[in-house]
Amino acid sequence: MKPFKALDYFQLDGLLTEEEILIRDTLRQFVSDKVLPVIERHHREGTFPRDLIPQLADLGTLGSNLQGYGCAGLGPVAYGLIMQELERGDSGLRSFVSVQGGLVMYPIHAFGSEAQKERWLPAMARGEKIGCFGLTEPDYGSNPAGMLTRAVKKGDRYVLNGTKAWITNGTMADVALVWAKLEREVAGFLVERGTPGFSARDHEGKFSLRASVTSELALQDCAIPLENRLPKADGLKAALACLNQARYGIAWGVIGSALAVFDEALEYAKTRIVFGKPVAAFQLQQRKLVWMATEITKGQLLCLQLGRLKEAGKAAPAQVSMAKMNNCQVARECARLGREILGANGITDEYQVGRHLCNIESVYTYEGTHDIHTLIVGQDLTGLSAIL
Ligand SMILES: Cc1cc2nc3c(=O)[nH]c(=O)nc-3n(C[C@H](O)[C@H](O)[C@H](O)COP(=O)(O)OP(=O)(O)OC[C@H]3O[C@@H](n4cnc5c(N)ncnc54)[C@H](O)[C@@H]3O)c2cc1C
Repeated sequence: MKPFKALDYFQLDGLLTEEEILIRDTLRQFVSDKVLPVIERHHREGTFPRDLIPQLADLGTLGSNLQGYGCAGLGPVAYGLIMQELERGDSGLRSFVSVQGGLVMYPIHAFGSEAQKERWLPAMARGEKIGCFGLTEPDYGSNPAGMLTRAVKKGDRYVLNGTKAWITNGTMADVALVWAKLEREVAGFLVERGTPGFSARDHEGKFSLRASVTSELALQDCAIPLENRLPKADGLKAALACLNQARYGIAWGVIGSALAVFDEALEYAKTRIVFGKPVAAFQLQQRKLVWMATEITKGQLLCLQLGRLKEAGKAAPAQVSMAKMNNCQVARECARLGREILGANGITDEYQVGRHLCNIESVYTYEGTHDIHTLIVGQDLTGLSAIL
């Protein structure tokens, strides 16, 4: 497939290092050559492209921003560019990498014991072990503090009871990081596949993120060794720290989705003839394309500056919320406008735009909904919480 030429209206490539551009271009070509030829089939069949996992590992994408333990140790901007390129392929693929790296490897790296790190991180970086992150419950999504899942210490075991819902990679995972209340405090527990009392089943009937596994986890008197608790994950703030990592990746990732949609819509508009002229020659359609290009460019700048702040250790959680909130909204609107420009063809999976349109609904909602991020930024600006 010919190289993808992404919109770069303000020459932002000039603000990237040579290494960042090399990593970005390598992933870009991987997506063109290996992901795009198979992704519509997986989306149609509702399957995750598992055979891409070894290649994702070889490219260093799993836990790519972590140091040591076989991880690539990349900076935040390179990490973000990887997310952008993967999501140009499909939000499900980016979700897999986000969960594996940002939501399972990161907490093991940040809050785990040395034995837990040695056991899981190198194997997860190689893609030999898969992880999932179980925070959401059927009745507690935006408000995880209300979770009902409980861990009780009994002798040399923790016994877990509860249900987790909407868990990416759930039925594929070798290890589930389950958040549960131990007495009154939230703590993180590593539950291995095959542990008696632990089971997972997939949510059926999704119209979004179809090329991604989304599951319900059930824990019924599930007993795990004491050493499976993450020793430094004290309280809900540890889980929220993981989400902050993953949200940063989402802010970049959805720009990739918007770039794919913009590219397809522009190409279509230039070649589709209506009333004797290309669609692109009509003012109403140009307005849509200009809106998309402008908002994508603003989203790219937001990500890049957020990445540079992260490099300097200065990125605040509310800034990550603003970037996630804004860029998801931009990607959602780009997908809608792109779909419009493609007319009837926009609703078939012969084109990418419909798949991105459906996918972005999940991304808009998970890792904190648009509303919740709005309220986080609102609280940061005003000093007043409107969440509770
Ligand atoms: C495909 C997919 C994959 C996912 N993967 C994972 C995963 O791997 N791990 C995991 O733990 N979770 C995962 N989730 C769950 C996701 O994080 C939750 O769906 C999300 O946090 C929202 O929770 P909810 O669906 O229960 O919505 P609710 O919390 O019930 O919210 C419903 C509506 O009310 C609004 N709302 C809620 N509270 C407020 C408020 N205070 N003020 C104003 N409006 C409010 C919301 O914005 C939303 O519009 C996934 C979800 C999806 C769809």
